[in-house]
Amino acid sequence: MNDTPLFLKPVFQERIWGGTALRDSFGYEIPSEITGECWAISAHPNGLSLIENGEFQGKSLKEVWDNHHELFGNYKREKFPLLTKVLDANEDLSVQVHPNDDYANEHENGEYGKTECWYIIDCDQDAELVFGHHVKTKEEVREMIQSGNWERFLRKVPIKPGDFFYVPSGTVHALCKGTLVLETQQSSDTTYRVYDYDRVDDQGSKRELHLEKAMSVINALHVDANIAPKLENREGVAVTTFVQNDFFTVYKWDVNGEATFTQNQSFMLVSIIDGEGTLLKGSEGYTVRKGSNFILPYRYGEFILTGNMKLIVSHP
Ligand code: ZN
Repeated sequence: MNDTPLFLKPVFQERIWGGTALRDSFGYEIPSEITGECWAISAHPNGLSLIENGEFQGKSLKEVWDNHHELFGNYKREKFPLLTKVLDANEDLSVQVHPNDDYANEHENGEYGKTECWYIIDCDQDAELVFGHHVKTKEEVREMIQSGNWERFLRKVPIKPGDFFYVPSGTVHALCKGTLVLETQQSSDTTYRVYDYDRVDDQGSKRELHLEKAMSVINALHVDANIAPKLENREGVAVTTFVQNDFFTVYKWDVNGEATFTQNQSFMLVSIIDGEGTLLKGSEGYTVRKGSNFILPYRYGEFILTGNMKLIVSHP
């Protein structure tokens, strides 16, 4: 039995579209006023979370994954499969697309593909997302991109806090200004940028676009994934199951009072996005609050959460 959760220290990434919400809303110490991404639970080499407690304190999640695979139920993948981020889109993100596993493996040095999903933690009143496109064939996709006909090509959808979006690889997408999101994704850092609003950085240069690769992987026809969140009310908690597929299962737990759970997966990723409370297991207790991120290892078993808090939980 593995009785100790792995608490993780997040890694911050500066982005031209970033802001200060990760400090203002989450209380994190951020490196600058353009902090766009918090890699909350990451074993990806571009931003490794470190373990904060227990016998693995100071080691990276990747080291623990590589050398103590039994903590993850000897999960069948070579690399840690998931990555949890909190994103502060203070400005529009570039319009982008990600490849699937096969394409990424072949063209990006064995990287995983990137299917992702978003839980909207907070957003401006009139916030929206770029989510999919309006055309129907590969030829039209090429035509629209080559002519830069973004108004006609890109589909925009209005959003509000609490919304959830499933974004399979091949979906053209972008977070827009004024959006704070928790993202659960395959552990990959491969993004093909389609359109960056012709922005320039401090040095006056534009970020690179990846049009050929993007046009190869964009789905010819955009269809919203048929996901219907399921809600289950139990003593002390409302559990929403947002999505369940080959890549990940993602839940929201609204804890109010005291609730009992069982960790019977290979392992479980937990992020607290609102409130505070306690994680109890036997005689061990941990105070947890908005901004806490941890992994419950293999055979962690039954545990209790108390308090008033909102968590996003996932497992592969
Ligand atoms: Zn993306």
